[in-house]
Order: sequence, then C-alpha cells, then structure tokens
Amino acid sequence: MDTPSLDFASLGLRGDLLSTLTSLGYEEPTPIQAASIPLLIAGNDMLGQAATGTGKTAAFALPILERLEPGERGKEPGALVLVPTRELALQVSQAFHSYGRAIGVRLVAIYGGAPARQQIEALRRGVDVVIATPGRALDLCNRGSLRLGNVRTVVLDEADEMLEMGFIEDIETILAMTPAARQTVLFSATMPKRIDKLASKHLRHPERVAIAAPASQSNDVPRVRQAAFVVKRFDKPAAVMRILDAEDPTAAIIFCRTRGEVDDLAQALSARGYQAEALHGGLTQDQRDRVMGRLRSRATDLLVATDVAARGLDVDHLSHVVNYDLPSSPEIYVHRIGRVGRAGREGVALSLVEPRERRMLSAIEKLIGTNIPIEKVPSIADVRTLRLERTREAIEELLDDPEQQARLEAYQDVVAELLDERDPETALLAAFALVHAGTGGDIEDDDRELSAPLDNGTRPAKEGKGAKRGDGPKGAGPAAGKTRLWISVGRKAGVTPGDIVGAITGEAGIKGKDVGPVKVQEFFTLVDVPEAKARKIVKALNHCTIRGRKAKVKLDQG
Ligand code: AMP
Repeated sequence: MDTPSLDFASLGLRGDLLSTLTSLGYEEPTPIQAASIPLLIAGNDMLGQAATGTGKTAAFALPILERLEPGERGKEPGALVLVPTRELALQVSQAFHSYGRAIGVRLVAIYGGAPARQQIEALRRGVDVVIATPGRALDLCNRGSLRLGNVRTVVLDEADEMLEMGFIEDIETILAMTPAARQTVLFSATMPKRIDKLASKHLRHPERVAIAAPASQSNDVPRVRQAAFVVKRFDKPAAVMRILDAEDPTAAIIFCRTRGEVDDLAQALSARGYQAEALHGGLTQDQRDRVMGRLRSRATDLLVATDVAARGLDVDHLSHVVNYDLPSSPEIYVHRIGRVGRAGREGVALSLVEPRERRMLSAIEKLIGTNIPIEKVPSIADVRTLRLERTREAIEELLDDPEQQARLEAYQDVVAELLDERDPETALLAAFALVHAGTGGDIEDDDRELSAPLDNGTRPAKEGKGAKRGDGPKGAGPAAGKTRLWISVGRKAGVTPGDIVGAITGEAGIKGKDVGPVKVQEFFTLVDVPEAKARKIVKALNHCTIRGRKAKVKLDQG
C-alpha cells in the first residue's frame, strides 16, 4: 500500500522555495503539507489538526512565503504567527529563516522574558513575518511598534496550548487589530470544543485538514515486536548505536527524515565500525543499485534511508526497522514497519522518540490499536553482558551441533600441543577473548544514561512571568537571546570545548564570554552563541578547520 508520491512542485510552490527544500534534504511533502499547502496558497482559511513532528510548521510557512507580495515586502508585516511559548517562537522563526533564505525573508520573533528593545528595533527596520507570543505581541501593538494593518495571513499555532495558557483574550484583541479580509489558519494538536468555538468565530468557511486517523486499522500491523526509547535529539546517535549493539539485527533499515540526516548518521555509524550505507533520493540509480546489491549480498547490514528512497524496497532478511526519527504521520509508521515481520517471521520495530513528540507516539498507538512500550536505552554494561552472552551461545551451538564436529577435528593437534604447554583455563580464556573481539570489537565507553523522560504534557511556563530560561546545551534550550549551533566535529575528532570557543572567537571575532555553554558529543558539538551573531559565526566557521578537520556548522533544529 504505497502512498501516492506528491512532490513539492505539484503543490504550487515556486522555484526558489523548491530549491531551498531540496537543499534542506526534504524529499517529499509530509501528509499535512500535501493537504494544506495548496489550500493555503489559494487563500483559504484552514483548521488543521496536527501535532509536533508532522511537519506542520512548513505546512503554513511555505504558503506564507509563497504569498509574500514583492511590492509590500519589508514595510509592515504581511503575516503574523502566534505561538504559545518563547521556545516555539524561536523554533518557528528558525524554520521561516531556513525556508525563506532564498527569497531574503525578513522576520522577527517577539516574546516575553527578553528585552523588547531589539524586537522593536527589528520592527522599525521592517519585517515580512512576525512570530510572536500573544502577551508580548499585544504589548508591542499597544506601544505602536507592532502594526497589523497590512497583515494578510494570521496563523494560530498550537492553539490548544494557547487557550490552555489563558491567552484567549489577548488573541481576540490581536485578531481585531488585523484586517477583516485576512486569511486565518489555526493549527491544534487536539480539537476540544473551545477550539471549534474559536474557529467558528474567527475563521471564514475554513477547510478542515486532519491527519489523525481512525483507530480501526490494527489488522494491518504485522507481527512485530515494538518498543520506543525516549531520547533527546543530541543523544540519538549514541542511543541508536547502543540499541543496535544490544539488538544485533540480521539487517536493519534505519529511517531518518532528510537526506542530510541520512548522510550524517550513515557516516557516524561507519566511523564506529558498523556496516552502514545511505540510501536517499539524491543518489543516482547506479549508486542505489550498488547499495541494494550490498544489502542483498549481506556485505552491508544497516541501511539508513528516507521514506522516499525506501519506497518499494523489498528485502527478505530485514529483521529490524529503526525509526531514528518518528515518521510525519501514523500511517507512515505502519508503512515503515510493514517491511519486517513478513511471512510469519517476527520482526522488530524500534523508535527513538524525542520528549516533545509524545503526541505523535500516542497517535501511532491509536492507529495501530496497541501500546508501544517505552524501554530504557541499554547501558554500556547491558550491552557488554549481551555481547558476552552471544559469544558464549555461538560457542555452545558449535559444541552441540554434531555436523560441526568434523570442523573441530581439524584443530585437534594444535590445541593438544597448546594444552600441553599452557594452563587449559587460561588458554580457553585467550581463545574466548579472540572470538569475542572478532564478533564485535570495542564498544563505546561513554556510559551516560541516555533515556529522557517523555514530556508528559505539563504546560511550559507562560511567557514573561517566570518563563524558564534555557540552561545550556544539556537542558531545554538556549538562553534568551542565544541560538544553538551544531558543529560536525566532536570528541571522536579530539575536539575540546576550548577548541570551539577558540575557533569562534578567532574566526568570527566574538568575545569568549559570549560563547557557550559548549557541549562536546561523540560525533558533534552543540554551542550556544548570541542570536544576532549566529549567521556570521556559521559563515566564518564553515570555512575553517577545527583540530585539522573541516567542520560543518549549522543552526541546531532541535
Ligand atoms: P514540525 O512538525 O513542524 O515541528 O516539523 C518536524 C520536523 O520535520 C522538523 O525538524 C522539520 O525540519 C522536518 N520536516 C518538515 N517537513 C519535512 C519534509 N517534507 N521532509 C523532511 N523533513 C521535514
């Protein structure tokens, strides 16, 4: 049951946006994007039910960018996106920034808990899109800094959260300041009555788009052992390696969302000695055939792939599907895991879930009609024990198999000699060690606990009053006024926090005290830098080497 493939071009997006999407490694629209983008480009109001992880941000951002009137650009904002929290404001701004860079979109994020001065200054210079929390937006409207008379599109993102946080009055006051003829788009993960009421009051003949599916398709799910691991985004590479070590799949397909992620993960796995290959739509047919050949001949046992590239792929001996990223809809989950558990064999489907993706996990559970148990990422000690057990089992299998006895006879003389000269137990220990090293090699010695708690739905602090400031790369997000960068080199390349601070201060002329915290991971590094300087730093660092390695640097999307 292949889902029909739609490309972004057929949704009505123009060339420069399409090239940006290609460069971001997006291969096809997610279901919510396929449904929403044409409707929104056509100017309809819309009521969309979609949670984080569905690709909803691009679903409204791309049509807004598509519809920006060149003549009106850069004066007063043409689009206003209201979001419940500072974190989401920053996240949505980053998304707009990356989708709109080819068309030079000007935007500002407006939120409480940070000085208003910079935000006012940006508004004064002129912006196309404002992404704001309701409280601060209203405040700046009242001060005359934020003018909404030219707004053609208003998006209420995560509307249920905004209502839950008591923003209803602010939202209605703000809407009243925008032109009546505007386009209004409302996204909400849940559709309680209050959302319906809000929609019928402020949206005109809205199109309804929902990707939540009825809970009745459980028969479609094959015999598959399923489990989920809650892991923060930057712990995912280490977590997937431990999980693979513990599971020891015959062959696995590991799903990522974008081409870039596929390449990064395949590289990280190969660097650690796994037999991994990347498969995505950027490969030529020849390259694709070669990868598939290696998988079929078992020269490779891990295939890292996007959904598009894996479509139609049929490999008999696949034992595991690993969702390195959750899919953008529950139906795609069912589709992915349908690749294992065929012909009566039991397959295994394992998912890495980011704490904020709890809703997508519930939607998947609802569709398949079962709970997916949440397990702990194995510790290094667990992995060691499992591996020893496996080596022992392999030896015992050989001992118990009469047909294999003949093979053993060939070694009789040399072993007899060895036993004459050496203590038998020590000799066996040495032989075991050799076999064991041959089956797995060294394992990672970073034995941090990687499991994170699932975000249980407690509401984030309201902006302004007591809003939580990020506590650096280990915690929720960067502090106010800071942005997190992702750098492609980490501990494995010998990088230390000092190297990163040194590179940023040296290459981009930023003061050391403005850089950090720095979190060096096995294969990459996260560092918080002043938001206003982030682009300059990315540009400067992309041309330099750190510890002799060319570094790739980008804004962290996590
Ligand atoms: P959202 O649900 O908007 O928070 O998006 C979830 C993640 O999916 C973000 O990291 C996006 O960058 C990514 N994403 C959005 N659309 C696509 C797409 N069509 N293909 C691949 N990744 C996407």
